[in-house]
Formats: sequence, structure tokens, C-alpha cells
Amino acid sequence: MASIAPLAYFAERIGGDRIAVSVMVPPGGNPHSYEPTPRQMSALSDASLFVKAGSGVEFELDWMPRMLSLNPELRVCDASEDVTLIPVNREEPAHEEEHHGDADHHPHGSFDPHYWLSPENGIIIARNIEKALVRADPSHRERYSANTDELVAELEALRLDIRNRLAPLKNRSFLVFHPAWGYYAASFGLKQIAAEEEGKTLTPRQLQEVIEHARAANIRVVFVSPQFSTLQAEAIARDIGGVTGTVDPLARDYQENLRQATGAFLRAMQ
Ligand SMILES: [Zn+2]
Repeated sequence: MASIAPLAYFAERIGGDRIAVSVMVPPGGNPHSYEPTPRQMSALSDASLFVKAGSGVEFELDWMPRMLSLNPELRVCDASEDVTLIPVNREEPAHEEEHHGDADHHPHGSFDPHYWLSPENGIIIARNIEKALVRADPSHRERYSANTDELVAELEALRLDIRNRLAPLKNRSFLVFHPAWGYYAASFGLKQIAAEEEGKTLTPRQLQEVIEHARAANIRVVFVSPQFSTLQAEAIARDIGGVTGTVDPLARDYQENLRQATGAFLRAMQ
């Protein structure tokens, strides 16, 4: 079982027909607030391996202790092992108190959890899942390693392809509502401007700054994730005289999704 859909893609590619993969956060579900169903909690007891994002995604922080106490034998693969996580930008600790309701479980000094969206990190994820599958099922080591090598070669080609497509861009800033594309941006020399801080809405003053920043950078598209409400994003789009576009941080078809997102970012920055 994988925690989020992109990780299921890696497990499927590496496990091939040796494994059956299910996903905990369903399509359209938001991993920042998802709660597993009782059926999923019991399905876990049949799982040989659980692949977690491991980067501070709220539903894992909230539910992993419970999942492990119900299934003490459960093998867990942390897909983020050896990934360098980017600290979340906390410039204004003073205003944090007022936003910290009971529902906000974000630990202070936390990291941007969306590391899977850079192909370099995709390669690290692939190696972590390879290691976990080999450990769980050592007699098929060669098959898992061959599948991983093939996937890693594809991810390296994907990285070069995206880099080449983005290379000619002069304007390299894009505006997203939810800040899921920081690793992607860092990987390709782009700048992500976000209208929301991880897990919380901006104050009117911060929002105004984002709008001015976007105007100054000549930005015309506000990208939203399918998992989030688009109302505020549409308001921002109106303010900058632009439109909203969609990029999905959680699509299952990892490579196709990064290609599509790159196309959307390219059109927005041209
Ligand atoms: Zn997120």
C-alpha cells in the first residue's frame, strides 16, 4: 500500500506483476487533511509493505502511529530517505499564533513535503522502493533491480527533456495557489511564487504582496491543484487580469503528469 498515488506509480513499476498496489489517499483526496477509512486501516493488515511519503505530510503524521500500533509487523518504506528536504519559509513567526487552530498540526520548523515532484528525487524514491521490495521479497531481487534500472533511465531522460523544454524561457517565475512545486522549480531553475503558505491562507496584506509581485513579474496564470478549492485563486486571477490553470501534484501517472505540468508552466511563462 502506498500513501499517495505518485508513490504507487513507483511501486508498480518496480514490483511489476509480483505485487498489487493500493493507495491510501484517493484521487481528489487532500493528503494535508485526509483520514483513512476503517476499511483501509484493516486492509493494511494484509499489506506486506507500506510506502510512506515521510516528508511531514499531515495525514501520515496523524495516522502512522495508529497504523503501526494496529499493525506492529507492518514493514514501512520511507520514500523520502536520502532526499534533501527544503525547509518551509517561515518569515513571520509573529502571525503564526492567530492561524494555529486545533486543526493545524503543522510542526514548527517543518519542511516542504512535496519532494516527489522533481525527477532527481524520483530517482531516489525509486531506489528506496527497490531496497524495500528486495528486503521484503529477496528471492526476486534481480527482477526488482532490473525494473528499477529501467525506471531510473527513464527518469533521467525525463529530467533532461524537461530541462531542454524550459531552457529557452526568459521569464522563469510562475504563480501557484498551493506551494507544491518548490522542488520542481529548484530542479529546473524556476521560481515558484505561492499564494498560500503550506496549509494556511495568507493574510489580506500578504495576498496583496503576492498580487503585486505577480503583476511585476508579468504573470497571467494562477495554478491550482485539483485537490483544493479554486475560489481564492480565481479572485487573484481576476486581480492580475489573468486566468487559472491546473497542475496536479498527486497524479498517479508520474512521468506523464510531469510532462503535462511542464507544458502548462511553459505556456504560462511564454
Ligand atoms: Zn501540499
